Formats: sequence, C-alpha cells, structure tokens
Amino acid sequence: MKKTISSIIVVIVITSMLTSCKNKTTNKNETASDTSKTIREKVLTAEEQKALTPDMVIQRLKDGNKRFLDNNLTTRDHSSQIRDAVQGQFPKAVILSCMDSRVPVEDIFDAVIGDLFVCRVAGNVLNEDMLASLEYGCKVSGAKIIVVMGHGHCGAVESAIKEVQLGNITQLLAKVKPAIEESKNFTGEKKYTNEDYVNEVVINNAKIVVKEIMKKSPILKEMVDKGELKVVSAAYDLKNGEVTFFE
Ligand SMILES: [Zn+2]
Repeated sequence: MKKTISSIIVVIVITSMLTSCKNKTTNKNETASDTSKTIREKVLTAEEQKALTPDMVIQRLKDGNKRFLDNNLTTRDHSSQIRDAVQGQFPKAVILSCMDSRVPVEDIFDAVIGDLFVCRVAGNVLNEDMLASLEYGCKVSGAKIIVVMGHGHCGAVESAIKEVQLGNITQLLAKVKPAIEESKNFTGEKKYTNEDYVNEVVINNAKIVVKEIMKKSPILKEMVDKGELKVVSAAYDLKNGEVTFFE
C-alpha cells in the first residue's frame, strides 16, 4: 500500500514538472512572438522623439494602422498615459485630416496620448491657421512627418463636385476645386455619385495640399530639404479601415 502511494506521488510530481516545463516553453514562445510584433506606442520622451527619423515614423504609422485593421489595438492605461504626458508633448507626427466622424484618426493609427497632433477641417484643406499649426507641430514641437489624409466618400469633396453653394461652406469648397481640375482626365463618369471619381479627387486634393504646404511654408520646406521632415499624402478607406500612403 505504501509503495502504491509513493508511486502515485512520483507520477504526480513528474506530471507537474512536465506541465511546468511546457508552460515555460509556451511563455518563451509568447515572448518571442511579442518581440516579433510591431512596436507598441507609448508616450514619447524628448529623446525618443529626437531619435526617430521621418521614415521610421511612417513605418510606425503603417504598423499602427495594421493593428487597427487586425482588431489588435493596444490596451491602454490612460491614467498612467495622462501622467506621463503632463510634463510636455513630443508627438511623432502631424495628421491633417478631414473632420468626418467616420475617420477616428488616433484609433486608425493605434496612437496614444501625446502621440499625434491632429488638425481637422472639412476636406482637409489648407488655410493660414492650419499652416501655422503644422509649423508649430514640426518646427517647435519636433514632429517628423506631416500626413495630409483624405478619405473615401468625403462629403466636402462630393459637395465641391456638386458645386454646392451655402454660407461659409462655399469658400471652403472652392479650395477643393483645383483637385477637380486636376482630375479632368478621369475616364469614367465625373459625378459625385461615382465612387472611383470621388476617390480620384480625394487623392489629388491631398497631393495638392502637400504641394501647397511646401510652397507656402519656407520653414517646413527647409526642414524637408534638410531631411528632418517628410510631408506625404494618404487616403483612408472607409470600407475597410486601411490607410494608403502616397510618398
Ligand atoms: Zn471628408
């Protein structure tokens, strides 16, 4: 009887050791797979921001968008992020986006508090105050990239195509007109109801705003010439959440 009990104990101990060993292996694998994943964003310090290049920031934005597409957003401790960010801000990028409620900018790049400057206006058009904000974000606060991001089904672009005239909206829509002109060689139907045509105008609009920024801001142009900054256009697809960059 004693022998049977001690045999059972030996079996339990061996089984327990094997299970523990298996768990350790699993943990090791999880760690390995975690490190192979993209860098999770955290509140940046001045030194961390300084160490980033424009290309590194574009890659991080792409990685963040991939996590958004994979439904793999970072679980955040917002209280701790608020405390980390209170002493100063060192965002890595400025996003000039449309105001559309279906384009949640921080979410689509899986960004944290203090991570992005987000300038929003219908049709992601440019004006003096926007330009000043971009200069502040980059020259004063050290952001490494400006992304002018349009999006599919943009009401501002569709209204500009429709030639809507209404109060102050009229002058805003006039700013989209150069993109309509730029899209004059589009081969399909040039109507606001044609999704492909609207997308073409959206992309041309973002590209034109990039050129305007370079033309109207000697400060930002100098930063680009020195390799300290990149200004790129992008488009957000409302249907699947994907951001396409045009570098
Ligand atoms: Zn829009």
